[in-house]
Amino acid sequence: MKSWVEISASRLAANYRVLSETAGSDVAVLAVVKADAYGHGAGLCAPVLAQAGARWLGVTDAAEGAAVRSALAAAGIETEDQPHILVMSEGLPEDAEALARHRLTPVVSTVEQMRALARSSPVPLGVHLEIDTGMSRQGVVPEALGAVLHWLEEHRDVIRLEGVMTHFASAEVAGSHQTLEQRRRFEEAMEQITKTSLRPEWIHAGNSSAIDNYVSDESLRWIAQVARSVGARAMVRSGLGLYGYCLPVEKEAGYAGRADAQVRSRLLPVMTWKARVTGVREIEAGERIGYNGTFTAEHRMRLALVPVGYADGLRRELSSTNVRVGGWVVLKGGRAPIVGRVSMNLTVVDVTSLADVAVGDEAIVLGEGVTADDHAQLAETIPYEILCGVRVQRMLR
Ligand SMILES: *Cc1c(COP(=O)(O)O)cnc(C)c1O
Repeated sequence: MKSWVEISASRLAANYRVLSETAGSDVAVLAVVKADAYGHGAGLCAPVLAQAGARWLGVTDAAEGAAVRSALAAAGIETEDQPHILVMSEGLPEDAEALARHRLTPVVSTVEQMRALARSSPVPLGVHLEIDTGMSRQGVVPEALGAVLHWLEEHRDVIRLEGVMTHFASAEVAGSHQTLEQRRRFEEAMEQITKTSLRPEWIHAGNSSAIDNYVSDESLRWIAQVARSVGARAMVRSGLGLYGYCLPVEKEAGYAGRADAQVRSRLLPVMTWKARVTGVREIEAGERIGYNGTFTAEHRMRLALVPVGYADGLRRELSSTNVRVGGWVVLKGGRAPIVGRVSMNLTVVDVTSLADVAVGDEAIVLGEGVTADDHAQLAETIPYEILCGVRVQRMLR
């Protein structure tokens, strides 16, 4: 195989445990495996996470949920409806049947959505209601909440309000004014819900950064307290952290309190992308490398050809010129800088200073020594996008 991705089951499980321990016994951790587990393969990761103790998994849509259900069944670790699978993006009315068939739990926010679910589901269906507390993306806005709650009370025999949730826009920001405002709006919504006969079992909010940032931001304590006040259980939803990454904690302007990252340094990258060197050659000073000859050899160089490119998800921003340093791969334990442009399926690296690189040697394209944070920095994006963009055959290790 020329190029492949190794997924470390032990690191994935270890990350889950670190996040769970940090969240504490009062706050369960929902393991987010949406977007094919951030490029790690939901079919590989979901069983590992369930075995590590995750009672809830999160996916984007009904199709992903169905795939995760069958992966769990194939791994033989599924019980009646455990782990629960939360479908976090609002779908289309025609998804309703698949949700019921695969025992998925949808996130809802409108009466129309719930009507479609009620029509399609032969059994009473649990739903989680998302409150839009300030992201303006999905979720019910305060003005519409009354009507939604009224409908839920009237149809409780077919649609059961099992959870209430919201999502924070700035969870990695210590002392975030936006998070405080979102919490205030959520508390107001909860007050309104408490006045009805509806009794949700789960209250959840926040992501990996809410766990990482919990000392300064106190969101975990807040979720636990809101849940306790309505006799429900608290949950936080973690994705990126499971895969070994987390955004750095930032500080709100003027915030003078603590802003320590609690878990970031303890998480281990789960994905290692490897490729075998398929060519080695020497070039003389003055020769140019790759498309448009953006890199010219200034001395005699030894080059290795790595059979990966932007079609596989290696970002083209990792290209280099003689004046702009680009990305690198790890070869023989050392850094081999990318020289010239990353092309569709091929990348040239400089191995002049590395001993005896030969055809067949393994290069680490992404993993230990060259992380998704490194790639993200060069590509001016976030590690989420780097990981989701890797399109290479995966195997569990
Ligand atoms: C993706 C997602 C998460 C997980 O976020 P991370 O930053 O990856 O931990 C949590 N909640 C919702 C609603 C999401 O869509």
